[in-house]
Amino acid sequence: MMFPRDIFAGRRFAVVGLGRNGLPAAQALQAMGAGVVAWDDKPAAREAAVAAGVTVARPEVAELEALVLSPGIPHRLPSAHPIAAQARAAGVPILSDAELLFRAVRAAGSAARFAGITGTNGKSTTTALLAHILEGAGRPVAAGGNLGTAALALPLLPQDGVYVLEMSSYMLERLETIRFDAAAMLNLSADHIDRHGDMAGYARAKRAIFERQTAADTAVVGFDDALSREMARTLRGAAARLVTVSGEGPADVWAEGTMLRDADGPIADLAPARALPGAHNTQNAAAAAALALALGVSRADIAAGIASYPGLAHRQERVAEAGGVLFINDSKATNADSTARALGCHDRVVWIAGGMAKAGGIESLHPFFPRIALALLIGRDADMLAATLATHGVPFRDVGTLEAAVAQGWEAARGGAAPVVLLSPACASWDQFTGFDQRGDRFRALAGAIAEAAARPTSAEGA
Ligand code: ADP
Repeated sequence: MMFPRDIFAGRRFAVVGLGRNGLPAAQALQAMGAGVVAWDDKPAAREAAVAAGVTVARPEVAELEALVLSPGIPHRLPSAHPIAAQARAAGVPILSDAELLFRAVRAAGSAARFAGITGTNGKSTTTALLAHILEGAGRPVAAGGNLGTAALALPLLPQDGVYVLEMSSYMLERLETIRFDAAAMLNLSADHIDRHGDMAGYARAKRAIFERQTAADTAVVGFDDALSREMARTLRGAAARLVTVSGEGPADVWAEGTMLRDADGPIADLAPARALPGAHNTQNAAAAAALALALGVSRADIAAGIASYPGLAHRQERVAEAGGVLFINDSKATNADSTARALGCHDRVVWIAGGMAKAGGIESLHPFFPRIALALLIGRDADMLAATLATHGVPFRDVGTLEAAVAQGWEAARGGAAPVVLLSPACASWDQFTGFDQRGDRFRALAGAIAEAAARPTSAEGA
C-alpha cells in the first residue's frame, strides 16, 4: 500500500545527508505532501537529488518542523555538523527517518506493529531472519532501516502488518515517539565510541530502543556479554516484559544442544539451519525467536522459518561446492573479531585473507591458527599478516590478488588440504575493491566458475 499523499501536507522538513537513507527519505516526505529542502555537502549528491526531483538548498532551520539527519552525520560528537548545530540552537528536533515512518504509519490510521533490532553485531542477520519468519507465517512485513531499504521508503502496512527495523545507535539517538512492540538489543562491545563519547554513552543510545515501551511490549536482551547483562538487570524494573536470550548459556530463550527453547519447551532445531552457523548465530536465532513469539507467531512457524532461512550475502555465505570442497564468502568480516566467528565454525580450512588491516592485525586469531591448512594472502597489508603467520608457523603464500587466491585455494583444497575454502579477510577491502560487497561478489563469481567447470562431464578427469 502507498501512503496517502497528504499525510504531511503543510509541514516542512529538511533532509541533510543525501545518501542511501537521505535521498529516499526526502523523496518519501515529498510524496507524503511535506515541503522538503534537501542538502548534502557533496556537490555530486546534490546533483543526484536534483535529478531525482528533490528541492536542494541550504535549509533555514527556523522554519522547520524537524531536521532529518542522515545516520552518518553527527549532531553532537565528535563535532556537530553546522546545520545540526543551528537546529539544536533553534530548538528544532533532529529526527531519524524511522521516527517519521512511525508517525506516517499512525497518521495513515494503521496500527501495524514495530519490531526494532540493535546491538554491536548481528543486527542485519536478526532483522532478516525475523522478517523471513514473519513472511513464512503469512504476515504482511516490511524490513529495512540501517541496512537494506531506508525506513521511509518502506510501504504502508495494514493493521496486522509488522515493520522490522534494524536500528543503529545513531538512529536510536534521534527518536521521539516511536514505540517498539518488540525490541531487541543483542550485544555490546566497544565500537563507535567517537560518536557517543564513551561506553556509557554508547550503551545509553542502545538502551533507547526500549524507551516508551509499555506492559504490552517485549524487551529482548542478549545475555552473553557483561554490558548487555547489566542492561537486562536495569530493565527488570521497567514496564515491558523482559526476555533474555543467549547463544551460549542459560537464559529465557537459549539453546540446549541444537534445540532452541524457552521455559515452555522446544522452539526450533538449529541443526537444519545451514545459514546460521556458530554460537553468535544461535544468539541471533534466539533473539529472532523471542521477537517472533512476542509478535504472536507460532512455534511451528518459527521453526520452519529458522530452518529455511537463506542467509545474507557476504556473511558466511556458502557460494559454491566442487568435488567435495565448499567455498564460503565471509567478505563482510573486515576485522579479526568477525573472522574469528567464521574460523571457529570449521576444523580445517584454506583461508583467504588480507586487504587493509585493522589495528592489532590478526594476532588475536592465534587460537584458530591450527585449523588453517594454508593461508593465501592478498592486498596491501599481506606482509603484516604474513609476519604474524610466520611467527606461529602457519603455512602461507602471498598471492597478491583474489583471482590467484581462489585458483590456488581450489588446487590446495581438492588436493586434500581442507574441505573448505574460506574468504574471511579480517581486513577492509578499499585497496583492491569498491567495498566488501564487490570483493564478495568477485569471490562468488570465481568460485562459481570453478564449480561449473568441475561439473562439466567432459572435464579432463572424466576422460
Ligand atoms: P551487523 O548488521 O550488526 O553488522 P551482521 O548480521 O551483518 O551484523 O553480522 C556481521 C558479522 O558480525 C558476522 O559476519 C559475524 O562475524 C558477526 N556477528 C553476527 N552476529 C553476531 C552476534 N550475535 N554476536 C557477535 N558477532 C556476531
